[in-house]
Amino acid sequence: MAQPDVPYWNPKNETLARVDLERLQGEKLKRRVRWAYERSPFYRRKMDEAKVTPEQIRGLADLRRLPLTTREEWMASIAARPLFGELLARDSERAIRYHLTSGTSGRMPLRVLDDVTDWQWIAECWCYGFWGFGVRPSDIVFFAFSYGSFIGFWGAHYACEKIGALVIPSGNMTTENRVHQIVEMGATVVCATPTYALRMAQVARDLGIDLPRQSKVKRLVLSGEPAGSIPASRKLIEDAWGGVCGDTAGMTELGTIMMFECAHRPGGAHIIEDHFIEEVLDPSTLEPVGYGEKGERVVTSFGRAFVPVLRYRTADMVEKMEAAACPCGRGFDLYRGGILGRWDDMRKIRGTNVYPRAIEAIVREQEDVDEFQIVFHKVDVVDEVTVKVELKPKPQSAWESLRERLSKDLAAAHEGLRINVERAETGSLPRFELKAKRFVDLRGRA
Ligand SMILES: [Zn+2]
Repeated sequence: MAQPDVPYWNPKNETLARVDLERLQGEKLKRRVRWAYERSPFYRRKMDEAKVTPEQIRGLADLRRLPLTTREEWMASIAARPLFGELLARDSERAIRYHLTSGTSGRMPLRVLDDVTDWQWIAECWCYGFWGFGVRPSDIVFFAFSYGSFIGFWGAHYACEKIGALVIPSGNMTTENRVHQIVEMGATVVCATPTYALRMAQVARDLGIDLPRQSKVKRLVLSGEPAGSIPASRKLIEDAWGGVCGDTAGMTELGTIMMFECAHRPGGAHIIEDHFIEEVLDPSTLEPVGYGEKGERVVTSFGRAFVPVLRYRTADMVEKMEAAACPCGRGFDLYRGGILGRWDDMRKIRGTNVYPRAIEAIVREQEDVDEFQIVFHKVDVVDEVTVKVELKPKPQSAWESLRERLSKDLAAAHEGLRINVERAETGSLPRFELKAKRFVDLRGRA
């Protein structure tokens, strides 16, 4: 473990010069490819089909010789060979834990197994994030998390134990109980999805608890949704809690996080580049795009012996910025604004591209909004998008003026596209405890 006054969890690797970092990535890539080829029937077949041998992968420059992997292939492998498909690179008897993806968009959930060393690695990656954001052994960390089969904050829990912080799990507690515990136990760090951080703040308000005054929370570690990096959403959370937000992002396919915001929070999250290779590709040509250009995240992981992940297409939209953009001294590049959304969430409405995250960024600027929902629907044959808005109990502005302001801002951000804004009854929109599903498409598949 690092010394408390050192800002990095792994001072050596986090401050490597790019050339040394890439050499390290090349070495790890070689070993990982060989591991996957020799033990995972899934990767052996893919590489055989692509006519690539492990010997041809001699360093980072050879990465693009490897075929891309998709979630569809993974799902097909599970369907053909239940329960885990042919990805596993270890005998399932070695496993100590089973998890599965949350199964969003009605897709088949992916099932994963991990062994003891995998869990050490999963916790290690989270340690980079917690330590880098300023969590120390003296902290009291509250996990507003259900500890179910969704992998979520499991690794973060172990990371905090590894750091030596006091961990407070809250598995089956009600939101009211969680709020009371956070105040009573003097929690200094809260881990939650952005949606749930806001939900707890709403409940605290209903309970008459003033979180900035009555709680000791200084930091909120967010994960699970892009909102952790949307400025207006963060401000809402920070104002409600009186603490600062640090975004992280991970995925069940990796078991852990691959990026985190450091204490400097320069408008982006550092990629944990000694444990992952993150490529950004144009999703249609599959050619790499440069710094400052949007593309699809493609990830290669060096950890997790059970589930190798090589050049996995995530459908996440990202934009890289150079490490030097952050003054913290890390050599790790960043993703500007975290995960910018998902390519498959994009909808074309009367010729204009509409992204739910972009709408959220605008809706959250209105402080009177308590909850919202984005609905794509058809009126006769015309595609429409309607934003349903629920107001806080005591709104500052009149509904009509808020509606006009919101309509104007939404249209301005979408080439003049008309986006309907409707008021929803108090408490009528769904509230979420984990990841929000604020985005509904009623149009069916075209
Ligand atoms: Zn930094």
